[in-house]
Amino acid sequence: MTGIYIHVPFCKQACSYCNFHFSTSLRLKDDMVEAIIREIHLRAPNWPWQAVDTIYFGGGTPSLLSGLELSRIYDALSMYFDLSNVKESTLEANPDDLTPEKLKSLADSPINRLSIGIQSFIERDLQYMNRAHTSEEAHKCIEDAYKMGFDQLTVDLIYGVPGLTSAEWEDNLNNLFQYDIPHLSCYALTVEPKTALHHQIKTGKSDPPDEALVADQFQTLQTMSEHNGYEHYEISNFAKDKQYARHNTSYWFGKPYLGLGPSAHSYDGQHRQWNVANNPKYIKSMQSRQLAIETEYLSDADRYNEMVLCRMRTMWGMNKADLEGLSEVFSKHFLQEVKPYIDNEKVIESADGYQLSRAGKLLADKITSDLFYID
Ligand code: SF4
Repeated sequence: MTGIYIHVPFCKQACSYCNFHFSTSLRLKDDMVEAIIREIHLRAPNWPWQAVDTIYFGGGTPSLLSGLELSRIYDALSMYFDLSNVKESTLEANPDDLTPEKLKSLADSPINRLSIGIQSFIERDLQYMNRAHTSEEAHKCIEDAYKMGFDQLTVDLIYGVPGLTSAEWEDNLNNLFQYDIPHLSCYALTVEPKTALHHQIKTGKSDPPDEALVADQFQTLQTMSEHNGYEHYEISNFAKDKQYARHNTSYWFGKPYLGLGPSAHSYDGQHRQWNVANNPKYIKSMQSRQLAIETEYLSDADRYNEMVLCRMRTMWGMNKADLEGLSEVFSKHFLQEVKPYIDNEKVIESADGYQLSRAGKLLADKITSDLFYID
């Protein structure tokens, strides 16, 4: 089984914190759809896995594509892949795009799950992050998506925004919980280099996120999501009734995936590949039927580090059986480095493996980097 990721590199406007690959000019949108279809014809015949488990349209803002454009990409995929067992077809969407008409056209397409970038229900924070939607649109799109029959919904929220008080963060979460959304992803605001937010902080126009407040809001998130019936199954992800995100969970378990579109990454179990992160160059190379791809062979140490990085962030943790399957040098290293964290109760050793404790989740980045194997 394989996952398929399609990167749609356009956004109406640039959110201040974002460092993903996208363009705010939609001029090349039609050419991009053609180029992605060409890439499917070029790469799919050589991709070793035919059976597809999940399809994920990410970006950028894939909700800028019409239902018809999405269906055309599906049709091209179906020429090469067995899509009969696709359990999850996700589209990332922004609230301002999800009009009733758009939702109707998506409901007529093969998309069965929407990942909605709400980020906040507070107008002030939406403006701070330069989001293109309003709080009212955030509420309305959830109601309309349910009305249109989309019951597989996931919503993104951001905490740690300078000025966001603990009480406001609780309000944001309560606003979301009233909709009984099956899945949510919550991220701390991070300041990435070369973003508008980075510039604003560097020039003193904005405060940086307050680390103590970020930790406090993360703990509030843990407590409130649990009280509302969510399982905290990955550092940033919460699900009701085991409705885990299949596509992302496959990444965390090292399953293969094919990435299409500019900047998209692929993984075949041994190599990581990534497409050029430049829209005109990508389109041009597809027009001349040339792949614009870089490839990196992953060493055993790379694969061990990636396994630690992904698994330790999940509630399943590092599995003992998987550890035993690794070369002795890595399993020994893991057991030696994890011991102090077991002793100070940041990591729990269970019969199956090693998982972060509730307190350990606050230190997830530090713990995983300490477990890495550096040659
Ligand atoms: S809509 Fe998403 S991809 Fe586009 S700029 Fe905002 S956060 Fe980035």
